[in-house]
Amino acid sequence: MAQPILSTAGVIKSFDGLVAVNDITYEVFPGQTSGIMGPNGAGKSTFFNLLTGYYRPQKGRVIYQGRDITHMHSHERVILGIARTFQLVSVFDSMTVLENMMLARVRYGRDYSSKLRFFFKNVHHRELEEECLQALDVLGIAEKAKIKTSDMSYGEKRELEIALALSLQPQVLLLDEPFAGLSLVDIAHISKVINRIKGQFAIVIIEHKISKLMDLVDTLCVINEGRLICQGDPQQVICDPEVSACYWGK
Ligand code: ADP
Ligand code: MG
Repeated sequence: MAQPILSTAGVIKSFDGLVAVNDITYEVFPGQTSGIMGPNGAGKSTFFNLLTGYYRPQKGRVIYQGRDITHMHSHERVILGIARTFQLVSVFDSMTVLENMMLARVRYGRDYSSKLRFFFKNVHHRELEEECLQALDVLGIAEKAKIKTSDMSYGEKRELEIALALSLQPQVLLLDEPFAGLSLVDIAHISKVINRIKGQFAIVIIEHKISKLMDLVDTLCVINEGRLICQGDPQQVICDPEVSACYWGK
C-alpha cells in the first residue's frame, strides 16, 4: 500500500485550557483528494495550522515524506511542498495578477534567493513568469495576468489565492473553505479547477458546503470538538449516525 505523503500522529493543540485539536491521527496520500468537515469551532482550521507549521502541537507529531516536521517553520514546509491558500491580505492591490504570483513565488518558493534578486532588480525573468502564467492557465484566468488585483471581483480574488498556492508547485495543497462567501457560479468554477488539478498532488479541503465537497473528494473525515470522529468513503461517512448527531443532535 502507498505510504502517506503527510500524516499526523496524536496531535494535540490547546488554547488556554480549551483543547482545539484533540489527539488527531490522520493520513494524506499522494494524488488523493480528501475532505474535512465539521461544525464551526470543531478545530478544522487549527488542525490545518498544525499541518502548515503556523502552530506547534503540544503533543504528537507531524510527518511529511517520512520526515518528522513537527518543529519545522511554516516557510520551510512551503519549500518542501506543503502549500495552503493565501489569505486575501497577502495580495497586493496595486500590483497585477502576474506580479502578485511572481512575488508569492519568490517569497515562498523553493528557489527564493536567486529569484528574489532578479525580481527586485526588475530583470525580466522569463522562466518564472512562464511558470506563473501556467498556474494561471490551469485556473483558466491567464488572460487576467495583466489586470490589477484591485479590479478583480471577490470570486476572482479567491481564484487568485488558489493560483498563488499552485505557483509554488505543491505536493500537498490545503484549501480552507474555498467556497466561503462565493456565488454558485464561482463555486462551480472553482470546483472545475479543483477537478482539473485533482490527482496531480494531494489536496485536502475543509468545507461546509457538504454536497459540493462530496463531488470533489475521494475520502472524507469529520472533526467534532477537536476529535476526528469518522473517516473513510464519503458516502459512508455522511450516513454515519455519529456524524449526523454532531450536526443535528442525537
Ligand atoms: P473551525 O475551523 O473548525 O471552525 P477552529 O480551529 O478555528 O475551528 O477553532 C477551534 C476552537 O479553537 C474554537 O473554539 C476557537 O475559538 C479556538 N481557537 C482557535 N484559534 C484560537 C486562538 N488563536 N486562540 C484561542 N482560541 C482559538
Ligand atoms: Mg475554520
